[in-house]
Parts: sequence; structure tokens; C-alpha cells
Amino acid sequence: MSQIFTHEFNTPVYKGKTSFHTGLYINGKFVEGSDKTTIDIVNPATGKVIAKVAEATPKDVDIAVEAAQKAFDTTWGLNMGGSERSRLLAKLARLMEEHQEELAALEALDNGKTFSWAMNADTAVAIDTIRYYAGWADKIHGQVQETDEKKLTYSRHEPIGVVGQIIPWNFPLLMLTWKIGPALATGNCIVMKPSEFTPLTALRMCELIQEAGFPAGVFNLLTGYGSTVGAAISSHMKIEKVAFTGSTMVGRKIMEAAARSNLKNVTLELGGKNPNIIFNDADLDQAVNWAVHGSYWNHGQACTAGSRIFVQSGIYDEFLAKFTDRCRSLKVGDPFAPDSYQGPQASKAQYDRIMEFIQSGKDQGATVHLGGDRNGTEGYYINPTIFTNTTPDMKIVQEEIFGPVGVIIKFEDEEDVIRQANDTLYGLAAAVFSQNITRAINTAHRLKAGTAWINCVNQIHTNVPFGGFKQSGIGRELGEYALHNYTAVKAVQVNLGYVM
Ligand code: NDP
Repeated sequence: MSQIFTHEFNTPVYKGKTSFHTGLYINGKFVEGSDKTTIDIVNPATGKVIAKVAEATPKDVDIAVEAAQKAFDTTWGLNMGGSERSRLLAKLARLMEEHQEELAALEALDNGKTFSWAMNADTAVAIDTIRYYAGWADKIHGQVQETDEKKLTYSRHEPIGVVGQIIPWNFPLLMLTWKIGPALATGNCIVMKPSEFTPLTALRMCELIQEAGFPAGVFNLLTGYGSTVGAAISSHMKIEKVAFTGSTMVGRKIMEAAARSNLKNVTLELGGKNPNIIFNDADLDQAVNWAVHGSYWNHGQACTAGSRIFVQSGIYDEFLAKFTDRCRSLKVGDPFAPDSYQGPQASKAQYDRIMEFIQSGKDQGATVHLGGDRNGTEGYYINPTIFTNTTPDMKIVQEEIFGPVGVIIKFEDEEDVIRQANDTLYGLAAAVFSQNITRAINTAHRLKAGTAWINCVNQIHTNVPFGGFKQSGIGRELGEYALHNYTAVKAVQVNLGYVM
């Protein structure tokens, strides 16, 4: 029998109690891992252990895959119509709405993001995502291909079968919904691994999925490590598709494991080192506000973070002064304090990685214009940091830091900035600020990125495709595009008159 996690929130912004199982969720039941070991879950605001969750092993992956396959062959897949899948997803969205504050509080506790952002962004968009895919579930269809009058030819978009999904710690609940929404709408069964740093909302979701009435085995959750459970999912011979969000390095491992095992279909949403270009003719105050949001939202732990901020020389000094003032005013502190903008980084490992990047910036000769140090003495807080006087070869300019660190780079003209902006192995997102719409659109079109924002940053909609060019990923999430990741196209040809 798995353990129960109970927590009482008595905070200025939320008061309430939560209580749920912390076992593996396999075939509609919470169970211990095969080795009966557990993983400590740490509150990043204090560095203290708050929960223990079951640790899955590769053997548990086999058990979960078997349960998922059974569900696919009997109660789900082609055995359940789209309108019923739609009804279940809509019910799940309603249950999430009823528990939105609890889910947001759990996210703040486990990940360190502020309760207000978890309410207004993470959980709100997560609910929208499930509701959006509920709308798609009964609208999945192929086409009729006209060949000739002696044949009836059509295509079907069939579910793939058992799919593996591996999600990260920066948006734990949101990434779960981006993955399960299209997979369940199209009739697949899921074996999912959340990050072992932030599994609490995923565990709570198992109970809501159960309450919504999804048949046992349709959704299975395995809390465990990437090197064991993640590797077992990506190399499993009976998992026909794997979807991953995380680092480019692990994305590469997953693709390799897929190639070496059963050539499973792979979609990857990887990192970014996203340029944010601010021209002389931008609305300066708006550009400053958006650029701060772009670089420091979610503590910089966003794959879309616009952390390479290119500012044209005519406004550089004024921009830097205003940007610095805004960053100085960002309140770093308890995720449950009403005025906190930035909580702790999600884990000790991430805190250490960011501090190493900051040190490398100093060592390579960049100027720490603001911050660059720890905030407080407890937990994993880092002050919003600005680097100036960088060169293109520096690690802090080339690599994804995934922390509250922005790099401000002066540029002279359009050609120069487009060349610099595209000088990266990533291609996830980019932003352009200009009041000259022709310049803004021309620049957006020339940037090698899966998303280009004009006069805004970090805008995500459930119906707009999201994904990367270059080493930022393969495939698109959200919108109708995501459905294609989870269906296999079958052509059916019926002979109406040919005689052999
Ligand atoms: P990872 O890419 O290592 O982790 C993401 C997920 O993949 C986790 O669940 C992880 O499990 C799992 N994983 C790790 N190794 C394997 C493997 N061999 N096979 C299958 N799954 C595996 O990210 P980190 O947590 O280490 O963060 C490192 C950097 O990655 C960040 O600094 C950031 O730059 C980037 N990142 C990008 C994200 C994005 O949204 N694109 C999200 C998160 C990170 P486990 O935690 O047990 O290793």
C-alpha cells in the first residue's frame, strides 16, 4: 500500500488542506515501487524534505506498459468513441477547476513558483488545455481520397497505442496537460514519468483522473529517475511513441534510445537561448516591462525565456537604466507572500547550475550589472541578475542558463542583430519590439525560431502550435498540430469493381 501525503496550507494567500497517495499509479491503483524504495521531495523555499514518493524501477515500467496495453485493447483506443473521451476530458477539466487553488498551492510548495503565477498562469492554462482537447476528441477524422469509381479509398487517424511521456520540473502540471490532452483525446494510453523534483501535482492529478472516470490503465504515472525509468520508457519495445520536454542533452539520449530499440516515434520540446530584439523605435516602457517578464518570469526557468536582450544603440543607455530599476524592484521571497514576484529556484541542483553560469560570466570578463548573488540564507533563492559587456563566445551568451539571468547586448543595425540572434544552436522562440510594423514583421520572419513574438513575450495559447527549430526540438505541441503526434494514418482501399 502506498503512503499518503498530507499538508495543511496556512498562508496569506491560501488556506486549505491537501491529502493524496504518493505511490506509483498503475492500472488505476496506487502501489509501491518494485524495490519498495522512495524519493525525498524537497521544498525549495527551505531545502527541507516535505514528502517521500515511491521510486519506480524499469520493472514497474514493464508492469505499467502491460496495464496500458490492456486498456488500449479493451476499454480505450478504438473501443471508446470520441464523444465519450471528450466527456471524460471535460469532466477532468471541471475537477481541476474545482481544485485549482489546491493544485496551485501544491505547485508553489513543490516547485517554488509564486502562488499567484501558479493560479493565473500554470493552473489556468492547464485547465484550458484539457478543456481544449476535450473539444477535439470527437473531431478526429481522416479523409476520403477520390481515386476512381471502382474504388473507395479513405484514411483513418488511429491512436498509436501505448505512449511514453517524460516531463520536466519547471511547469510540472502544465507540461502534464500539454502531454495528456492530445494523447487522450486521440485515444492513446499513457505511461508518464514526471520529474522526481516536482511530482506532487502529477500525483494529485492521478486521483482527479480516477474521479473523472477514465478506465484503469489509460493513464499510468511512475515517479522515478531519468537514468532508470526515463531510459526504460524511451527504450521500451512496446511503447510506440515517446514525447519529452527537457534539456537538449537528454533529448538526444531519448532519440538514440528510440532508434536503438523499436524506432518509436519521437517528439522533443527542448531548450532555448531566445533573443529579444528591441529597436530604437520601440515603445520603450512597454519593451522594458515585457523584457523583464521575458527574462525573469518563472525565475528564468522557462524554455522560452528571452534572456539574450539585444538593444539598439540609440536607446541602449535609457533602456538599461529603466530595465535595471524594474529588476531591482522585483520582490524575491516566499512563494506564498502576496507581493513576491520570484520564489526560489526549483532545486539545489538547478541553483548550483545557475551559480556556476554566473561565475563563468564573471570569469570570462562580463560585467555583473545587477545581482549575481544568493538571496537570503535559506532555500535556493537567487537575486535577479543582469550581465553587460559580453562577447558572443561567452557561455552565458551561448548556453541556456534557466535562471534569473539576463544578458543585455548592444547592437547597431538590423543585419547585425539578425545575424547575432540566429547565432545559436537553439531556435525555440524570439521577440521583436518596434513600432514600425514592417520592420517588426520582416525581422520576425528572418529569425530562426518556432515562435516569433512582436511587441510581446511569453504568450502561449492552447490553440497555437509551440515547438522549436534547430536543436530546440522536433514536432509541435498544442493546437491541432499536437494531435498529429498521437495518431497513425491508415489508408483503406476498398475494391468496388476491379476483377483480378
Ligand atoms: P533534464 O533534461 O535532465 O530532465 C528532464 C526530464 O528528463 C526529467 O524527468 C529527467 O529525469 C528525465 N531524464 C533524465 N535523463 C534521462 C534519460 N536518460 N532518459 C529519459 N529521461 C531522462 O533536465 P534537468 O532537470 O537536468 O535540467 C537541466 C537543464 O535542462 C536546465 O538547466 C535547462 O537548461 C534544461 N531544461 C529545459 C526544459 C524545457 O522546458 N525545455 C525543462 C527542464 C530543463 P531526472 O530528473 O531523474 O534526471
